This record gives sequence, structure tokens and C-alpha cells, in this order.
Amino acid sequence: MGDYTDKVKTKMEDLIENEKNQWIDLALKIHENPELSFEEHKATQWLTEPLEQAGFRVKRHLLPELPTSFFAEWTGTKAGPTIAFIAEYDALAELGHACGHNIIGTSAVSAAVSLKKALDDDLPGKLVVIGTPAEEEGGGKILLVENGWFDDIDAVMMFHPRDKTMIFRGSLACVDVDITFMGKAAHAAANPDQGISALDAMLHSFLAIKQLLPSLPASANVHGIIRKGGDATNIIPDHCEASFLMRAKTREELHSIKRRVYDAVRHSTKAIGASCTMEEGLIYAERINNRVLGYQLMYNLERIGVEVDSSEITTGIGSSDIGNVSQLVPTIHPYIKIGNAITHTPAFTEATKSPEGMAGLIQAAKALALTAFDLFQSPSLIMQAKEELRQTINQRRNRL
Ligand SMILES: [Zn+2]
Ligand SMILES: [Zn+2]
Repeated sequence: MGDYTDKVKTKMEDLIENEKNQWIDLALKIHENPELSFEEHKATQWLTEPLEQAGFRVKRHLLPELPTSFFAEWTGTKAGPTIAFIAEYDALAELGHACGHNIIGTSAVSAAVSLKKALDDDLPGKLVVIGTPAEEEGGGKILLVENGWFDDIDAVMMFHPRDKTMIFRGSLACVDVDITFMGKAAHAAANPDQGISALDAMLHSFLAIKQLLPSLPASANVHGIIRKGGDATNIIPDHCEASFLMRAKTREELHSIKRRVYDAVRHSTKAIGASCTMEEGLIYAERINNRVLGYQLMYNLERIGVEVDSSEITTGIGSSDIGNVSQLVPTIHPYIKIGNAITHTPAFTEATKSPEGMAGLIQAAKALALTAFDLFQSPSLIMQAKEELRQTINQRRNRL
């Protein structure tokens, strides 16, 4: 490592360490004021304040449907890549910050502010923090991707707290669908022959999907619930509702699963003489973990003394809207250990304000800042990361 690189890295680590109380206070303040997806007004204000104070240009309210989104940028005097840290800050109903997005948002902001302070105006490129609301409910990043907010970004990084520090954990493609079944109401005893049961169409569909599962790709996961099954036992229901969540290893696999599930539902419904409509939600893409960025981050985590699991983790995984970003821009979504609790539990809500949680916050901030600095110093890493993504996408297309 060159003297300059080591000097700046040490300066950044010291800066974050010396100012850590400010970041811990911010993460705890967001923790104490949990806000649900789309309603993260306080968190947006509190996270953008230090960015503005540090000289970042902040745009808020990026989309009418995402009022709590933001885009903070600082452009250096020299030309170079654009690197983005992602902030999430939504909480869960009843549980509060049981996913630790207070730590995600604060680590992104503290890394950005500290990197700017350490480099002064010597930044070769542009540093960005993108405030992406509604991760838990609503796929905020999908909307931002679709509206071009990631088009000019060269690399994306964020940190999620968890029970283990790991870099290459995957996530599945997924989509939810609400299905409404329509039949014809009739008295269930007096004139059942006059009715068409929307409930039978729905139950028939559930069974058909279950019977379809063994013939779907191994990664397919389809599960549904009944939202409305009728109003009275003596009336043949004319209106029933169900919701399904479908997941698959890739977006392409998800499309083929979807087609077969919808066929099964339409045929089952038709067999009963009923009709149905389907309303599909946003499509979450699977996560492509960029290895060039991931290994650079691992190197920096080791520099600050954090033990890392660098294995490829493909089981026991869910879905997240960062997947859609990772299809477009080289992306990493690593995890930092903050104890042994599992996410989305009351124990994790405790962990995300605990001393271990705050230690994880500071480690994540340092690792993000150091890795972004490496990328600014060596644009060839970005070229390699982009080439890797291009090849991954091409290989996938060729397999189809
Ligand atoms: Zn979550
Ligand atoms: Zn989360």
C-alpha cells in the first residue's frame, strides 16, 4: 500500500473513531423514533442534516411516490467515478428497528461525511449517498432504479447488520400477486344450482398450485394465504381474495414460474365457471454480489480487525430491493455482526441499539469509507467490477 493511501486511510479511521459519539447518537435517535415505510420523514431530515453541513448538495423527495427519498452528492475537483453509499431507514410495525436500518442509514452517512473530511477537495470523482426508503414494504429502490436514479452510478455499497459478518450472501427474485375470484351469489340451500362459487375457484387454484410445485424449478417457492373467503355460510360466495408470494433463484426463472402459476389459476377458475383478476406487485430481482468490490471490502474489514465469512451463501435467504440495483450497477450488500439475535425479532430491536450494535455501526462506516477510497484511487477496480457484472448478465442470458 502506498504511503498516501495508508495515511488517508488511517486519517479516515481516526476521524470516524473520534467522532463516533455523533454517529451513535444519530443511530439511537432514529432507533427511538421508528417510522414505517414511506413515512420516514424524521429519519430523512436527521440523515441529510450532517450531509448538508459537510457540503453535500442534497435533493429530497425524488419521486412523488417516495417523498422520503434523497440524493446527496459531492463532486470533487478532479474527474473520476461516481460511488454511492445506500441509506435505508424504515422500521417495522410493532417491532421498531428490528432490521437495523437505523444502522444502515447512519453508517452510509458517517462514511460519506468522513471520507469528504479526510480528502478535503482532493476527491477524484463524485461521492453520493442515496436515501432509499420503504425497503420493508414497497421496494423503494426498484422505483428509484426505474426512474433513472442509479443510471450514472459506477459502484454501490451498503451494510446490513446481522448475526454474522459476511459479504457474499445472495437473495432471491420475488413478486407478490393479489388474486380476486368472482362468481355468482346464490342461497346455498334453496338454489345452489343458480350460483357460481368464487370460493371453490379459489380452493381449486390453491390445490392446482400445490400440485404444480414438484414440476417447477427447484428454487421455486410459492406460498399463499386466503384474505377473503365469503361473507355468510348460507350464501355461495361471489367474491373471494387470495395473495401469493412467488420466489425463484433468478428473475428469468420467476417469470416462467409466474406463467405456470397463472395458467393453473386461470384453468382452475374456468373449470368452476368463475373468473379471476390478478394484480401483481413490483418484481424484486435476485442479488448479484460483485466479487471485485466484495474482496476489496473484505480486505478493509480485515484491516480494521473484523473477522469475515467470505463464502457464497445461497440458502436460508430472502429478497430485497437492492437486487434490482445490483443488476444495473456493481453492488455489494455485506452484513456486519452485531450479536447473535435474528432480524425481525424483538431481540434484534434490542441489538440495533446495543453497544455491540453501535460497534458494528462504526466498523461498517469505516469499511465503507476505506473501500470507496480504494475505488476512487484505482478506477481500474471499477472497470473490473463492471466487466464482472457484464459477464454475469451475459452468462445468464446465454443459459436461457
Ligand atoms: Zn427487514
Ligand atoms: Zn433490512
